[in-house]
Amino acid sequence: MENKKIIVTTSWDDGYPLDYKIAELLDKYKINATFYVPIRNPEYPVMDAAALNNIANRFEIGGHTVNHIYLNTLNKDAANYEISECKTMLQNRLGKEIEAFCYPGGKYSQRDIDLVRQAGFLFGRTTRLLHTSPKLHPHLLDTTIQAYNHSNAVLTAHCVKNTFLLPVIQNLFFYKTNKNFPKLIETTINRILATGGLFHLWGHSWEIEQYGLWKELEMVLKMLAFNSEMTYLNNTECWKLLSANQ
Ligand SMILES: [Zn+2]
Repeated sequence: MENKKIIVTTSWDDGYPLDYKIAELLDKYKINATFYVPIRNPEYPVMDAAALNNIANRFEIGGHTVNHIYLNTLNKDAANYEISECKTMLQNRLGKEIEAFCYPGGKYSQRDIDLVRQAGFLFGRTTRLLHTSPKLHPHLLDTTIQAYNHSNAVLTAHCVKNTFLLPVIQNLFFYKTNKNFPKLIETTINRILATGGLFHLWGHSWEIEQYGLWKELEMVLKMLAFNSEMTYLNNTECWKLLSANQ
């Protein structure tokens, strides 16, 4: 690990047209990111080629399947198509290697982890929250906090599954007093500053718009920005740095 105490990375899923607003905020605060963009999404519009190029010039683009479909609903051939074809299509569009993948809906099995690896991706980003350890799971990149106000119950459920964080009882109390995500981030950052580690913020621009969270998002980016104890990386840079230190 470098001498910086915290590695900060962010990721933004689904390629919704309002991702340009997230990109503008990230530029303003000099925070790096990976945007996971499906080719199509039956639920939400996906940005056009010009918008994708614009973001790809400044940030990493990662694969998020062709049709934004949950892999656990597919047989092996269909899952393989969704994973390997989104890589090929994005590479053809952008003329650069696509190294990062993100599981739609956070759904995957060991079969899908293997398919992602065989397709040539370095890792699959999960939707597992509350990970702050620089220790990686094989071929998976977990997250810390979502730009969304999750319930105490959801956070506790993530915490129970999480072997890297503090004991559950301690966290039950912790989430009660840190209900909104900027407050939760502030407290989490203070914890990581003491121990060193990884801070991975993720979200969806359609969700930030839907719940009116743009002000909160800017507050958080401001909180993270221009800190000499932090290194700001995209997901693949973060993965490579942590892998080299395992
Ligand atoms: Zn998604």
